[in-house]
Amino acid sequence: MHAELIAIGSELVLGETVDTNSAYIARALRTIGLPVVRSTVIGDDVEAIAALVREATARSPIVITAGGLGPTVDDPTRAAVARAFDRALEYRPELWEQIVERFRRFGRTPTENNRQQAYLPTGAQAIENSIGTAPAFVVEHASGVVISLPGVPREMEHLLETRILPYLRERFDLRGVIKSRIIRTVGLGESQIDAEIGELEKLSNPVVGLAAHTGNVDIRITANAGSEAEADALITPIAALLYEKFGEHIYGEGGITLEESVAQMLAARGLTLVIAEAGTQGRLNARLAVLPQSTLIYRGASTLNSAPLQDEVARLREMRSADISLALRATASGNEQRIEVALLDEHGLKTHTQIYGGAPTNLGQWASTVALNQLRLRLKRN
Ligand code: AMP
Ligand code: MG
Repeated sequence: MHAELIAIGSELVLGETVDTNSAYIARALRTIGLPVVRSTVIGDDVEAIAALVREATARSPIVITAGGLGPTVDDPTRAAVARAFDRALEYRPELWEQIVERFRRFGRTPTENNRQQAYLPTGAQAIENSIGTAPAFVVEHASGVVISLPGVPREMEHLLETRILPYLRERFDLRGVIKSRIIRTVGLGESQIDAEIGELEKLSNPVVGLAAHTGNVDIRITANAGSEAEADALITPIAALLYEKFGEHIYGEGGITLEESVAQMLAARGLTLVIAEAGTQGRLNARLAVLPQSTLIYRGASTLNSAPLQDEVARLREMRSADISLALRATASGNEQRIEVALLDEHGLKTHTQIYGGAPTNLGQWASTVALNQLRLRLKRN
């Protein structure tokens, strides 16, 4: 059993509005164990949408569209779904009454345009939209269903959660869950990890996948199972294997950021930090400064002068009476970009230098990740 999504709206294909609905729907469907296998964005063109709906229903028993249910003639979804199944659009007086009633509650009267929203493909089941005007609808056909939801994210989310997820569970007897665990690593390249866990990436349940960001890589383990507990049983041994292989490089799980992980370590030990940086557009300071704990752990930030880093960390630590001082310098000369870190704490001085081969615009972000990781490793080892 799987689903396919269609996000409808010319503003979406033109890049004026970001399609957040598809991501929301895909995530919500995971909670009922329904994977999304394809997701398309299409403009407001009745013929093109009708053709896509026809293709999608041939591939997928569950097709969900979002958008294009507004009150104007160029809102295409009702007509497109009707055409996809060679059905007519049918006027539903009871839907019109609901629309009139909703407008009345807000002290308004609907315009003739709104009457469009009372038309549905023949045989469609209407789903009342209690927080907006456009009703959603479901068309059942020989090989499955097409569900059309409004595009306004708040309305779409409400209908999905309160009406569509329960409907799908019931209609397709869905008992499963899809569960993910995200393990976050730093200091290893995507290809290095890939080389080490290539075999795991061939598994079908759980699925193991990588997502690379600037300076860190997430490993996602996703299981499809009958219950949360069964999903955990599939995921846990894989996670254990990853900790065995990459333990030192794993800074957390789920939504945690590297700076949050470091800040938590500092806060837990009641340690304070002072930093100085150069050549990084202030990225290290910016990343630390947004943390909720930062006022407790942070003794300040400054720009480095040209003195050797070990002198700087000694001077800063003394001046701000911090437990740890950290200096970061990124430099580019010719083709070479160099990242230097110095750390001074009660255990002494630690320095680290590495060459960075990526895009110059990412140097600051990358360098701040290197510095935070050096600090993390220092805290972990002592
Ligand atoms: P519609 O249902 O097409 O009339 O869209 C109503 C509003 O929701 C418009 O402001 C759209 O830009 C917005 N919208 C439509 N589809 C999406 C989507 N996939 N993601 C985010 N916003 C959307
Ligand atoms: Mg639209």
